[in-house]
Amino acid sequence: MTARTMARIQRRITDHPDWCSRDHRCGIDTHRSPDLIADATGGRGVITRVQAGDREYAEITIRVRLDHRDPIAVRQVGLTLHLIRRLIQAVNAMRPDSLTSGTPRPAIGHKAA
Ligand SMILES: [Zn+2]
Repeated sequence: MTARTMARIQRRITDHPDWCSRDHRCGIDTHRSPDLIADATGGRGVITRVQAGDREYAEITIRVRLDHRDPIAVRQVGLTLHLIRRLIQAVNAMRPDSLTSGTPRPAIGHKAA
């Protein structure tokens, strides 16, 4: 007769970054901040800070109103693509030390409705 050992199952406490929303959007190896909303006439941007593994990034969803005329809408989509590319380049071109000043960042810590 063999003896069976009952293994104890223990869950390790998850370490969340300070900015993590600690809600259902936070996964096993991913942490997500509350959404930051940027409303503008004709559109909306939603930015979420994400940590996946040892990398952090800003996940951005943008809704831009397009003209009802297809040729114009196509050009608007192209312009949007161009500006998104410029946005990514501009953010990544910033020297980290230039972002450490006491500039107020009112959106940080602000929970979306
Ligand atoms: Zn988390």
